[in-house]
Amino acid sequence: LPGLSADGPTVKALDRAGVFHSWSAQGSLDPLPIASASGAHFTDYDGNRYLDFASQLVNLNIGHQHPKMIAALCEQAAKLCTVAPGFANDARSEAARLISELAPGDLNHVFFTNGGADANEHAMRMARLHTGRFKILSAIRSYHGATAGAIALTGEPRRWDNEPGMPGIVHYFGPYPYRSVFYASTPEEETERALAHLREVITLEGPESFAAVILETVVGTNGILVPPPGYLAGVRAICDEFGVLMIADEVMAGFGRCGEWFAVDHWQVTPDLITFAKGVNSGYVPLGGVLMNEAIYATFDERVYPGGLTYSGHPLGCATAVASINIFKDEHIIENARDLGANVIGLELAKIADQHPSVGEVRGLGVFWAVELVRDRATREPLVPFNAKGADAAPMNELKAACIERGLWPMIAGNRIHVVPPCVTTEPEVREGLAIVDEALGLADSYYTG
Ligand code: PLP
Repeated sequence: LPGLSADGPTVKALDRAGVFHSWSAQGSLDPLPIASASGAHFTDYDGNRYLDFASQLVNLNIGHQHPKMIAALCEQAAKLCTVAPGFANDARSEAARLISELAPGDLNHVFFTNGGADANEHAMRMARLHTGRFKILSAIRSYHGATAGAIALTGEPRRWDNEPGMPGIVHYFGPYPYRSVFYASTPEEETERALAHLREVITLEGPESFAAVILETVVGTNGILVPPPGYLAGVRAICDEFGVLMIADEVMAGFGRCGEWFAVDHWQVTPDLITFAKGVNSGYVPLGGVLMNEAIYATFDERVYPGGLTYSGHPLGCATAVASINIFKDEHIIENARDLGANVIGLELAKIADQHPSVGEVRGLGVFWAVELVRDRATREPLVPFNAKGADAAPMNELKAACIERGLWPMIAGNRIHVVPPCVTTEPEVREGLAIVDEALGLADSYYTG
């Protein structure tokens, strides 16, 4: 394209001159210019190829540059690039049909958004209007997006600098067996006590004031926290008891990441609302959405829904969602993600944990895993402190650099390496990536004091 540079230094210089980046102090940024990508790899302008164990921002479930995705995008672009949400559009209609067909229970209707944060904004709004109640329960150790309401839901440091946010959000603890705030010693105890805690918070904060509980089915950025057996069903039961809606945020966990279409399928729990984005079309074009059940839909049968977006159900986004779902089916991508988790990543990470004292715990499912690093296995002191910055964060930065040097692009979060490759990654690629993680972990071991 005219005006686009073919050399990395120019791309970077123009970036630093004109682009303002997310979640960053702008002065210290050094973004890697990317020239091309394919499948689970991307390549910089110097020809260095990286295996993408981060799936970009845990969204690239179908991998880079899938030819059928590109064809669908080009075909839709040639036919109709954009149309206002008030019209009917074939790509949008088919995307809604396919997504609701895959969704559990009677979640049969989709409101399309531009991404995950606005999906959560709208789920919250729908819950409030449907129940006539205002307050929302949201977990500590969660991320729900960066818009005003979604960041208020968020239970981690990214909210701190955005406070005071929206009133009426009450935070509670979800389960995290490895660092149980409930002093639980088994997953069953963790489930029981986490549910008792949630019930107590609702009871003591005014059961009739709560519109919804929102949770990430599997907590993503805040640790890949897989709910212990019975937890999600228990939340569902508490919600039913108090007339509170259950919103599952599957922006990161959905569309194959957990080896299922929706992560809730793993536990056969049906929420009232599911929010999705990322993996629905792997971010080939920005797209998200809210799936709602019949009861919530009926609330807006005669009553006007007071919300909308210029790009709700954008044809390019919806065409890529349709293509992606069909490719997933044709190429058995869900099965691949499930198999990689059960037969490769889980087993290999267990071996890695045996060999490295700094590995406190490995956990996950599908292509959604965390390696939690500690200085001491007995005390479980994290390798870097919570919310570490500057020199405190050095060990994790060194680990990241060690992976990158070896051709692996890792996802680092707090004191963890998240192993979150695309769902289409092959077994040899996953093994190659894990071998690099294994090698790099020698560095983490050098900080071990236990
Ligand atoms: N919810 C979860 C669980 C997420 O992981 C994210 C993004 O990482 C979001 C919501 C926000 O999505 P977006 O960045 O598309 O607004």
